[in-house]
Amino acid sequence: MIRYSRYFMPTTKETPSDAEVVSHRLMLRGGFIRKVASGIYTYLPAGLRVLRKVERIIREEMDRAGAIEVLMPTVVPSELWKESGRWELYGKELLRFKDRSEREFCLGPTHEEVVTDLVRREIKSYRQLPLNLYQIQDKFRDEIRPRFGLMRGREFFMKDAYSFDADDVGAADSYRKMYDAYCRIFRRLGLESRAVEADTGSIGGSSSHEFMVIADSGEDAIVSCSGCVYAANVEKAECLPVAGPSGSAVGESRRVATPGKCTIEEVSAFLGIEPAAMIKTLLFDTDQGVVAVLVAGGYEINEIKVKNVLGAEWVRLAPEELVRELTGAPTGFAGPVGLSARILADHSVASIGAGVTGANERDAHLVDVVPGRDFVPSAYADLRSVAEGDRCPRCGGELRFSRGIEVGHVFRLGTKYSEKLAATFLDADGKEQPLVMGCYGIGVGRTAAAAIEQNHDGDGIVWPISIAPFEVYVIAVNVSHEGLAAECERVAEALSGKGYEVLYDDRIERPGIKFKDADLIGVPVRIVLGEKNFAEGFAELRDRKTGETERVALAEVVDRASALLEEKKKECAS
Ligand code: ATP
Ligand code: MG
Repeated sequence: MIRYSRYFMPTTKETPSDAEVVSHRLMLRGGFIRKVASGIYTYLPAGLRVLRKVERIIREEMDRAGAIEVLMPTVVPSELWKESGRWELYGKELLRFKDRSEREFCLGPTHEEVVTDLVRREIKSYRQLPLNLYQIQDKFRDEIRPRFGLMRGREFFMKDAYSFDADDVGAADSYRKMYDAYCRIFRRLGLESRAVEADTGSIGGSSSHEFMVIADSGEDAIVSCSGCVYAANVEKAECLPVAGPSGSAVGESRRVATPGKCTIEEVSAFLGIEPAAMIKTLLFDTDQGVVAVLVAGGYEINEIKVKNVLGAEWVRLAPEELVRELTGAPTGFAGPVGLSARILADHSVASIGAGVTGANERDAHLVDVVPGRDFVPSAYADLRSVAEGDRCPRCGGELRFSRGIEVGHVFRLGTKYSEKLAATFLDADGKEQPLVMGCYGIGVGRTAAAAIEQNHDGDGIVWPISIAPFEVYVIAVNVSHEGLAAECERVAEALSGKGYEVLYDDRIERPGIKFKDADLIGVPVRIVLGEKNFAEGFAELRDRKTGETERVALAEVVDRASALLEEKKKECAS
């Protein structure tokens, strides 16, 4: 049992101005965290209790799934990152520094290199496989925009697991085990989550799922089908080719003046045509050379798809100088006709009979441009982001757009890292083979924040019991009343003796403040002992989530509270 008067949980009424989302506000107000620097926090005791509980559930499910816990360092030598090639590719999120001997290091943002190095030294034979190693450890990513408290920090705790198998079949099995463990973890955490197909990003590999907590404040846009199980991150969601405006047979393409008009909206309005009849051309600078990417007006080109179709390490929108050099015109007037660059076209372009494109000339466009006649793309591919009105790529059903918080991510890595780092084993025929890998992350702090986004009301947090900092909050309305205070102690001790985590509010504070704090902190069950009830032999039992309040005889309050607590625990069973 913890006595609030001796505890360190500084609650505040003020809403900090830089806290944009509710979880960030409530974690600050409830005395769970304090900011030290942008994206860097101290976890106060109650915040730490929540994190430890999230960790415990993750740990239990990892162990149950056969993963084995290790702990790798935060400080990682550059050599390993150079071996994988990510020292150059990872960009500014990787915080690099030198030690006193001028050796280069980084703070690990993820640990594929370190774990692969460990395993290549220790694993020699297929008999030692499969192996899945995990850790729960401090990560550092120098995020460009740290925000939302623990949701997007720079220093944060992550559970990261890495599986090693002898072949793809084994790797698929390891992936499935982690996927199932994640489903159990988020159920036990009391979260409503959904696994969506995702892009593999800078971690790489062949396939991946993100576990999303559905919340309006989420940074990720996801689509899900109302008719089947298909769900995907918008970054990744596949688009079926859609029929565009069918052009009648047209004559040669013509140049028209479009003074000062360069956006799709401006040009289509100026020419009096549908935006869908425009062919948007964007130039990308990539490690595979310059590429012009075309999409029908009204759609957005998806850079991640472009990168994947090209098999490129990096792509970026061509800067103004490069656009001028290639097209002879400022940005906004590029078009595929006569352009000396590789051309990739989205499927949406194929269905444009006769379209409008930039003329590679300032203040001019071409009309009656026919794909295949006036320009020939090197390939048609899925290069755009899903949009309202698109159908499900699996069943043709209706797609719904929603927002989510990515709390977990599972990847099939294949041999990307094992080949780069030469992590091999001898198979049953004595042949040397690269290890087949997977990696699996959960953000511990982000998950706690997501739990608040999903579970709160106007008065504060409504923690799922599995991760609440305390399970019962016992309030002595008047601590200077000796009999009442003694009875409160008895109840608190009895519940604590039964194994429940009790916070006993023995502070010399006004009752109103204690009630407000209890709601703010979000402890699932509250017991209040006021003078009048005490005199009559009763206490008040309250459910934080439903607000239901019950007057219970003092002799029964421990049993009734236990029953309510058990009910809540059942809700968080997997
Ligand atoms: P995001 O797209 O949100 O930046 P990511 O794809 O970079 O996430 P992963 O590399 O897959 O994330 O990391 C695994 C998990 O670590 C994520 O699912 C998330 O829960 C957590 N995580 C990632 N970045 C942060 C961060 N800056 N702060 C807190 N948690 C994070
Ligand atoms: Mg990231």
